[in-house]
Amino acid sequence: MNSFDVPTSLSPSRASSFQDCPLQFRFASIQGLPQPPGFHAVKGNVVHRALELLLGLAPLERTREAARDAMAASRNEYEPKYDFVGLELDELAARDFWTDCGRLVDAYFDLEDPTTLDNVELELWVEAPLGTFNVRGYVDRLERAPDGGLVITDYKTGRAPRESDVGSKMRQLEMYAYMIRALRGELPARMRLMYLKDKVVLEQQPTESSMKFLEKRTIALYDAIERACNNGTFPARRSGLCNFCNFKPWCPEFGGNPELAAVEAPLKYPRVVES
Ligand code: SF4
Repeated sequence: MNSFDVPTSLSPSRASSFQDCPLQFRFASIQGLPQPPGFHAVKGNVVHRALELLLGLAPLERTREAARDAMAASRNEYEPKYDFVGLELDELAARDFWTDCGRLVDAYFDLEDPTTLDNVELELWVEAPLGTFNVRGYVDRLERAPDGGLVITDYKTGRAPRESDVGSKMRQLEMYAYMIRALRGELPARMRLMYLKDKVVLEQQPTESSMKFLEKRTIALYDAIERACNNGTFPARRSGLCNFCNFKPWCPEFGGNPELAAVEAPLKYPRVVES
């Protein structure tokens, strides 16, 4: 069995990807194999960019009209990119894609009034040590609430989770709260998940005991990744996610050979280098 280099850092999305399916994690995050752009991921990026542009304006300038301009600017950025072109949408599907992005940006105004937000930091890169490795990632938004507390907000363009899945969604934000506390010496007062499609906002308060638990849980997860890298064992975990998995041709659950992925995936999904 091959062994793999152990990663020196972990992001919240990578941590949950290992838990979802270790084999997919190996293909994407350990071997770094190419994948075609994903429809929902690109839509999320377009909407995030539009909201970033909107909230980068002075508070009173953050109007619905400005949001439409921000959406147009985001579209101009993404339309020529491989991220969008690689989706290979026909004219009708492309029109629906942009309409839906615009709808999601507009829906944002039903969840909060952006003119009241102050001291906003957007797309903030954070990285902090945890155990023997680093945790890192981008925080969509960090702001100082009127009551003085720091608030982390994460936008989501997919469906809001069922009640039973809320905890696992919040766990990703807890990792951001941990990093903010390490970098600023202040534990955020709130973490918010903003589901634009369903117009739902979920909120939770991180606590010192939840941070301790997160630390233990993440170290245990990292240890499991380290073991998997050292002994080369990344089991496939079949689930609904398989329907969207680009590595199915090399997955033993579907009759594939994982050892061929390193050679065949770059041929099947040639990278397009942006100028
Ligand atoms: S097809 Fe399913 S089980 Fe196989 S690697 Fe992808 S997510 Fe994992």
